[in-house]
Amino acid sequence: MTREYLKKATLTAQSGASDVHELVQGILNDIEAGGDAKAMEYAAKFDKYDGNVILTDEEVAAAEALVPAKLKEDIQFAHDNVKRFAEAQKATVSDIQYEIAPGFIAGQKAIPVDAAGCYVPGGRYSHIASAIMTVTTAKVAGCNHIAVASPPRPGVGIAPAIVYAAKICGADKIIAMGGVQGVAAMTFGLFGLPKANILVGPGNQFVAEAKRILFGRVGIDMIAGPTDSLILADKTADPHIVATDLVSQAEHGYNSPVWLVTDDRALAEDVMNRVPELIEDLPELNRDNARAAWRDYAEVIVCKDREDMAACSDEYAPEHLTVQAEDLPWWLERLSCYGSLFLGEETTVSYGDKASGTNHVLPTSRAASYTGGLSVHKYMKIVTWQQTTREASKRVAEATARISRLEGMEGHARAADVRLAKYFPGENFD
Ligand code: NAD
Repeated sequence: MTREYLKKATLTAQSGASDVHELVQGILNDIEAGGDAKAMEYAAKFDKYDGNVILTDEEVAAAEALVPAKLKEDIQFAHDNVKRFAEAQKATVSDIQYEIAPGFIAGQKAIPVDAAGCYVPGGRYSHIASAIMTVTTAKVAGCNHIAVASPPRPGVGIAPAIVYAAKICGADKIIAMGGVQGVAAMTFGLFGLPKANILVGPGNQFVAEAKRILFGRVGIDMIAGPTDSLILADKTADPHIVATDLVSQAEHGYNSPVWLVTDDRALAEDVMNRVPELIEDLPELNRDNARAAWRDYAEVIVCKDREDMAACSDEYAPEHLTVQAEDLPWWLERLSCYGSLFLGEETTVSYGDKASGTNHVLPTSRAASYTGGLSVHKYMKIVTWQQTTREASKRVAEATARISRLEGMEGHARAADVRLAKYFPGENFD
């Protein structure tokens, strides 16, 4: 298979990640031992914040008053879309009751976790949409308690629109605490919060590492690395739109990879010429992010045909995948590794990131080869149950006793024997 790299990444998302583990483990140990006071020390150190941690009703109302009316309508619109999509997803999970053998019933129940901890990042940008995505979905799943942790700005607190979004989407408590200390507060049950059963939401490398370390004692949605995006484009694609979409995703962070995969060399060259100009036209912070991401992490790959393009895309297993090419049904059928798929020029990753209804908390760094993104299902435990009549238990008891003995598990065997002896006295089950 011949693939030509017109541009190759010099760094990968994993570059330079190794020393974070020790730092994060140390902070978690400190906070677990030192409780609320230690968490506040870290908030002062990393975010220069020493204000109130659990937002009061008055603070929530004050934040709401600062959000412009039009933005409130947009937040409501995005919330309604995410809610309706999550409800449709929830309808695909059903409790079942199945008769394995006459008289032997087994079942499945989907039970929401009790307490969800939603991390809403706020370091570089004010991720209003992350509050909408995580809280709305937890609410639809049926969690009893939903906490939101988000980094406060020095002397100011959490961005008002994040507070407003968290509240209208269903957060029970909002804490002004970011990074490792925010994650720790929800996991260890600090500041009067219930201990979270699951931690969800995107965040930087410190947040991701904290979730990775805590996984096991608490559930997590996934370990999210830097956002990545791939565009599949053929000769029918509009190079200006392709270039604009690549830049839109490169602005996430200095280490956010964007990849263009095409079978049209002329299109690739055209797009590559346009991208730097579009980057230079962004506001300063976004420009710096996009410039570095394009320079160090971006790739432009020319494949021999669409089958090769699809294979290449599946290898990259991107978080966001866009197709701007002919025959969209073929691509929908063929592609198998992505967090969220955007079919056709008329849609764009930005829609999914902010407001269209699908979730934007998605697998990064090739995790889409084994998992999808955040959905109601991540907040739900699929558990099983069983019940049987005495008569129906006879065959399973015999099989259980013999299998157990062969395994050397005499105690298990006797749990079956004792029932056979009680329900079928006088019969021989050797
Ligand atoms: P963040 O909220 O994740 O991190 C800010 C926190 O990091 C601060 O509160 C601080 O406590 C901590 N921190 C900063 N420097 C530290 C240090 N040296 N040591 C220990 N802790 C430190 O915000 P961010 O940094 O802007 O990162 C947001 C991330 O979330 C980005 O990578 C972005 O791409 C990602 N994101 C992903 C999605 C998605 O769906 N995949 C959506 C939104 C955001």
